[in-house]
Amino acid sequence: MARLAIGGLAHETVTFLPEETTLEDFAPNIARGGEIIEAFSGSNTVYGGFIDVCRARGVEIEGLITAECAPSGLISEPAFDILAEELLSRAVSWREETDGLLLHLHGAMAVRGDQDPEQTLLRRLRRALGDDYPIAVAMDLHGNVAAEKCALAGIVCGYRSSPHTDMAETGERAASLLLRQLQGEINPIKAIARPGLVLPSIFTATDLAPLSEIMAEVRAAPASPGLLDATLFTGFAYADVAAIGATILVIADGDEALAITAAERLCERMVEMRQQLYRPVELFTAKSALDRAAALVGDNRRPVVILEHADRANDSTHVLHEALASGIGRIAVPYLCDPIAAKAAASAGVGNQLMTTLGGKSSELAGGPVLVSGIVRQAGPVRYRITGDFRKGAELDLGLCAVIDTGAVTIIVTTQNVTAVDTDPFSQFGLDIDEYDIIVLRSKTHFRAAYEPIAADILIADTPDWGPADLTTLPYRNAPPGIFPITV
Ligand SMILES: [Zn+2]
Repeated sequence: MARLAIGGLAHETVTFLPEETTLEDFAPNIARGGEIIEAFSGSNTVYGGFIDVCRARGVEIEGLITAECAPSGLISEPAFDILAEELLSRAVSWREETDGLLLHLHGAMAVRGDQDPEQTLLRRLRRALGDDYPIAVAMDLHGNVAAEKCALAGIVCGYRSSPHTDMAETGERAASLLLRQLQGEINPIKAIARPGLVLPSIFTATDLAPLSEIMAEVRAAPASPGLLDATLFTGFAYADVAAIGATILVIADGDEALAITAAERLCERMVEMRQQLYRPVELFTAKSALDRAAALVGDNRRPVVILEHADRANDSTHVLHEALASGIGRIAVPYLCDPIAAKAAASAGVGNQLMTTLGGKSSELAGGPVLVSGIVRQAGPVRYRITGDFRKGAELDLGLCAVIDTGAVTIIVTTQNVTAVDTDPFSQFGLDIDEYDIIVLRSKTHFRAAYEPIAADILIADTPDWGPADLTTLPYRNAPPGIFPITV
């Protein structure tokens, strides 16, 4: 009977943000050994997929360590070293008793002083475990995946859906390929091709044309004779690193030429369509989004979702400023991260009036704090299991939270940096989503799973923040020449 090790370090690093990500930020989401199975079993996560396949095939599992946290600034060197070292030492201790490693990496992690720490980690794993120890990696669609990183793992699979509703499926793909390889059924050979472009996250939604059409070809590719798997990584535009950009990765069964041909064909499609991929739909400012929403609500088309998508720290206030001044119906602002305001609301007490500043503190582009006066409707720690399709079943810790009601605007203030992507912010807080005319979200694509079916319209507000749709406004220093639209 086979036995596989499972582990991972996952973080989408926004290198432009001023604040470092520390070990403390990972702490609520670290699992070790048997805790990994307990935390992820049955969930729509990569680890959930790994576990499902192992259980279905009677494969024993040894949990190493898993750590993740919400997208944020550069990871501090000590935080990465501590987590990487623990993963490494646990992998080494199980080296002889396991047949391979199932690893989850995001693909766009960056550490202060190391632009490609995932490559560093894989290199260290290779050195410690040997070149012949099988490693399969499952990554996020938003990975900046250089050839050098890819070469260090035998199998690499990435999400093919954004919203990432296929996390477990991706874990299953990687685990299944690894087990088939161990049984001598297949000989996975990878090829990658890079089209020299990067997409703003807001336009990596895989149901937006023309990305939807190319992604359909990527999903169909493994049905071709001799091919085993294919991924289109869109790249992550907000990590200023040498490896920035999209990647096509194809795995063939023993036939490298076939893998190369398939990867290059899909890559050419991306190059041909790069202009349309970069700008598939209309953009609004915060003010013009509220104006448009007012017109829609006036026509009884509600709720309207306004996306403050450029916010990379869940605390930007560009849309909140306009919302408070707008006088349009009822507006919900779920999950605005501000630990100080959450504490102030808890101290004021439920049912009491509170005047406080909210949000806008994460960087000079976050819109600045907004002075808000309202009633504290709820206050206390909140933790729950996600009910939306994105990461369904996984635990979510919001820390101390408060619901502040200004009369026109309801704001859910959180202590943890969490992006609202589904309708849990309403159901978990006992709020009725039908009461709201406008819902202000900060998600890029994950919200689409829950909100496309219920939103009258989705308006993308391109605020002057660190995750804009207009990538030419960002101060790239490390991106190499030849990446459309930033260095071409
Ligand atoms: Zn992603």
